[in-house]
Amino acid sequence: MPADYHTHTPLCMHAEGSPEEYVHAAITAGLTEYGISDHAPALPEPFDDWRMRSEQLPEYFEWIERARAAAGDHLPIRAGMECDWLSGCEKWIVTLTEKYNWDYLIGSVHYLSGWDFDNPAWLKKWAETDVEDAWAQYWQTYSTMAESGLFDILAHPDLIKKFGYRPSGDLRRFYEPTIDAIAASGCAIEINTAGLHKPCEEVYPEFDFLDLAFSAGIPLVISSDAHHPNEVARDFSHAIRHAQDAGYTETLLFQNRQRSFEQL
Ligand code: ZN
Ligand code: FE
Ligand code: ZN
Ligand code: FE
Repeated sequence: MPADYHTHTPLCMHAEGSPEEYVHAAITAGLTEYGISDHAPALPEPFDDWRMRSEQLPEYFEWIERARAAAGDHLPIRAGMECDWLSGCEKWIVTLTEKYNWDYLIGSVHYLSGWDFDNPAWLKKWAETDVEDAWAQYWQTYSTMAESGLFDILAHPDLIKKFGYRPSGDLRRFYEPTIDAIAASGCAIEINTAGLHKPCEEVYPEFDFLDLAFSAGIPLVISSDAHHPNEVARDFSHAIRHAQDAGYTETLLFQNRQRSFEQL
């Protein structure tokens, strides 16, 4: 089993479970490593209702330490954050980078011009949105995030499809420029299995994107995006099949923001 590096904690206010429960689930699943990457604070605060505030960072570090204590020498626990890529956020991300001895940082695009398009609370907005424009803006934003070089892993590449809104035609016209940007940056991407349980009913990213990513030499991790202990390593065998179908034979491990390869 690979590592599962994209997982959450109750500090983001929409996840549940204790560090001990998550670690137990990770050991039971036979993961190589378990990584914690809750939604990072964002500025200006309070930013939204689905992340910790910066004053809670010490609590987050305690949560990580509790997970390490629970894992003992049975399982390496890695520390990360899922950071939102927002316009003008670069300085803040650098500040966050210096706050802890992170093993990796994940970059995510959840916002387009102040709209968290993946939030079910604003689902109605999709009906009045030009899907082609939203997609164009999303992939441009994703490319800019890759080019920033601030992250080790780029999360759920085609999250924009979450509620099933996609332009018609061959979507590779959106993917190709972003694939080039990611390949040039050296960042890894993830297969994120949470999408299987959303209206789109498939992993992020879809196979065409993964296929292009493999051809471009972009490295890979596999993630559950668990917000509950039951979701740790969920559907990993499905994701491993996708990775292998695209040609991948290995995934990445991270420690102190240094990477190594692990056979799939
Ligand atoms: Zn979340
Ligand atoms: Fe996310
Ligand atoms: Zn599938
Ligand atoms: Fe997440």
